[in-house]
Amino acid sequence: MAKYKIVYDREGCVGVQSCAILAEQFWKMNDDDKADLIGGTQREDGKWELEIEEADLEKNKKAAINCPVMVIKILDETGDEIPL
Ligand code: SF4
Repeated sequence: MAKYKIVYDREGCVGVQSCAILAEQFWKMNDDDKADLIGGTQREDGKWELEIEEADLEKNKKAAINCPVMVIKILDETGDEIPL
């Protein structure tokens, strides 16, 4: 099964919540009105990332597509950004 990686630039989140509605197992709103990537780890560049299985790809793609500021990216196994 292919693995994918969510990369999330939390700095740019404007708190619209669509990610938390569309993929609630992965996204939840925090007290600062930005979304948290549940189970994610923060990288040195400040972005957050989380590896996901293929079964969880579609819902996270929906979250990424519906994010108005496009701060959610999804990479394939080779590290290329998948088209949304
Ligand atoms: S959809 Fe985008 S802007 Fe809205 S809460 Fe999620 S990450 Fe933030």
